[in-house]
Amino acid sequence: MTDQDRRPATRLVTAGRRGEWLGGMVNVPPARTSTVLFDSVADLHAAYPPRDGTLNYGRNGTAVHWGLAEALTELEPGATGTKLFSSGAAAVAMALTSVLEPGDELLMVDSAYGPTRAFCDGELTRCGVSTRYYDPLITPAQLYALIAERTRALFFESPGSLTFEVQDVPGLCGVARERGLVTLMDNTWATPLFFSAIAAGVDLSIVACTKYIAGHSDAMLGAVTARPERWDALDRTARLYGTAVGPDEAYLAARGLRTLHVRLAQHQTNGLTVAHWLAEHPKVARVLHPALASCLGHEQWRCDFRGSTSLFSVVLDGGTEAGRDALVDSLDLFGIGYSWGGFESLAVPVSLRGMRTAGERTFAGPLVRLHIGLEDPADLIEDLDRALASYPGP
Ligand SMILES: *Cc1c(COP(=O)(O)O)cnc(C)c1O
Repeated sequence: MTDQDRRPATRLVTAGRRGEWLGGMVNVPPARTSTVLFDSVADLHAAYPPRDGTLNYGRNGTAVHWGLAEALTELEPGATGTKLFSSGAAAVAMALTSVLEPGDELLMVDSAYGPTRAFCDGELTRCGVSTRYYDPLITPAQLYALIAERTRALFFESPGSLTFEVQDVPGLCGVARERGLVTLMDNTWATPLFFSAIAAGVDLSIVACTKYIAGHSDAMLGAVTARPERWDALDRTARLYGTAVGPDEAYLAARGLRTLHVRLAQHQTNGLTVAHWLAEHPKVARVLHPALASCLGHEQWRCDFRGSTSLFSVVLDGGTEAGRDALVDSLDLFGIGYSWGGFESLAVPVSLRGMRTAGERTFAGPLVRLHIGLEDPADLIEDLDRALASYPGP
């Protein structure tokens, strides 16, 4: 039985824990170093050029980084390697930089994470790369018509940020491959546990480990996992830009990974319990949760995903943004904040202003994005019930 034959829950426990990195301990210890000392000039030369798994200079990482990267690679069947970055946003920026050149065009999903859009509109524009936004629900047949002479890459985020549309990633990857486009996907919502991006045909799979992987709202980290054809360019770009991750962040993400399976199972159950309750509430017009039929792309989610996590949006039935903000303010158990994936529940008001340019969707009322944590969902429901009772509605 090889590591790849083992089931994901087992792999989460064993991956990246090589004996030579552990020295008898259970976890790969975080090491603090900049310089690395060699016994001889010959040893110094033998450690270059830099490669993962060989100690040569602090910036190129130590065992705690390699162990985490190796574990993340193992979780994406078909992948060859993973680079770590100081945040999910940095991982998105570096993945795109490893692919695009001046004169290229990028097809970016319209439901992308806000800072991803900002990187495309700001930095890529400055570097001579143009971005065209496309509707997340395009079919493979419609993609053909979008591809122009200069189109170099296709970026997915599925489900999308804020509105949670699920894309036909396998189908669109088939067209992209036929037309020679590089595909990238932000897989933060599902994590490799619930969606195998590389196996679905994606070339570069990006995860903000800040969210479910670190899982405790105490670390910033991003990762890009590559299939063999994209690995050299990714590795080179990361080294040339001097990206480096602190040992504590890598350690916290590796520790989070060991319990990802049980945490996500509970996030899934709690998320669905609250989402189904909300869907029946008279002041809720619609629940944008990929596992509910009311979410755009729900059928696609059923085909491609192995589970659902606990971040979704709720469309209130009528009312005003001020009323919605008061509702969020009145919640007791939901923190008001952005970075989800921790053990605690969160609520934020959603504004789509300036965030969608490929097409507009209209909703029956203001939106709230919820992250359902590991509290007892009955308590969360009581909190929501009390807050919704004061919501004016239409
Ligand atoms: C949070 C998030 C990121 C960015 O991650 P950071 O570590 O916060 O920079 C990227 N993509 C998605 C979908 C996210 O939700």
